[in-house]
Amino acid sequence: MAARRKTLEATRREDGLRSLKARTILVADDDRGIVAQVRAGLGDSGYGFVECQDGTQVLSAIRAHQPDLLLMDVEMPGLGGVEVCRIVKANQGASGFGFIPVILMTARRTGKVEGLELGADDYLIKPFDMLELSARVKSMLRLKGLQDALVDKNRELDRANKELEEKRLELLQLSRTDGLTGLINRRHFEERLSAEFARSERYRSPLSCFLLDIDHFKRVNDTWGHPFGDVVLKEVAGVARRALRDVDVLARYGGEELVALLPETSPEEAWRAAERVRMGVEAMRLTAQTERGPETVKCTASIGVATFPSDSSDSAESLVSAADQCLYVAKENGRNQVRQAS
Ligand code: GH3
Ligand code: MG
Ligand code: MG
Ligand code: MG
Repeated sequence: MAARRKTLEATRREDGLRSLKARTILVADDDRGIVAQVRAGLGDSGYGFVECQDGTQVLSAIRAHQPDLLLMDVEMPGLGGVEVCRIVKANQGASGFGFIPVILMTARRTGKVEGLELGADDYLIKPFDMLELSARVKSMLRLKGLQDALVDKNRELDRANKELEEKRLELLQLSRTDGLTGLINRRHFEERLSAEFARSERYRSPLSCFLLDIDHFKRVNDTWGHPFGDVVLKEVAGVARRALRDVDVLARYGGEELVALLPETSPEEAWRAAERVRMGVEAMRLTAQTERGPETVKCTASIGVATFPSDSSDSAESLVSAADQCLYVAKENGRNQVRQAS
């Protein structure tokens, strides 16, 4: 096991070295002799080279070749190495050049300090030793490799985080939804109810509520079977949803009962909305397949309506229970009707 781990680590190290070879180094110096010297010094390493003579060339070569390392003379005509370094470091975000390590080459001893202060990653003083050049280049390329891997990892993490967030929202949505009707479920309705009630209280705007119960639904199940009852329930939910505004909250309250919250809705408007739903249910025509052939099924619903503020409702709970009492009266009075708290 330990031996196996050792081999893996060795392989990884080799991979790291091999990947250094595929790297591109941009060498910039107005003295072509220096450029040739650098190339000769790094000749065996298998790097790719891009050559430039001044800072302006460097900037366009970065865009064209995306080098892994800049090896730049400080003193060049026009844009000097220090100035280019400043630009490169100011644009090292993902939308700019990305991270590119910079080694400045200078004949002046003072230049190195200035270069490092401006964000150069390393410096070489001319004339330099080829072994030193090679070692510094290797170390900067490793830095670049690590930085690139970090950027990749971050991108991966961002992607994973986004996926997680999407899944979380999906789950949340699922936990709030009634599987049969696609309406929100009772638990989420209670949350919406307290939020809407608080808003209505704060802004002194009317909040109406109605409870709908399908009439003789047990008979539907008994006559055409439970699966057909499910179809009826779904259809009633659809009719109610289409009869209400987008801002109205419609939920499955229990078995064959729906509940609606109508924000900023007066008793008169709430009555009209409930009537629209009742008439929609009455107008439904569904076809049940039976042994005797297809049969047309009709159904009706009773609705109780209440509005806050009023004598009978001064809390979220009492609003729903006032609507429930009206629903009871509608049932007692023969069903297929809307009843409202006076
Ligand atoms: P009423 O007019 O007084 O409301 O009569 P009802 O038959 O509708 O009332 P009751 O409360 O006696 O029966 C409700 C029925 O609704 C009983 C129950 O099996 C049925 N039910 C509840 N949930 C579902 C469901 O998800 N699917 C189906 N198919 N039936 C359901
Ligand atoms: Mg020069
Ligand atoms: Mg019921
Ligand atoms: Mg019923």
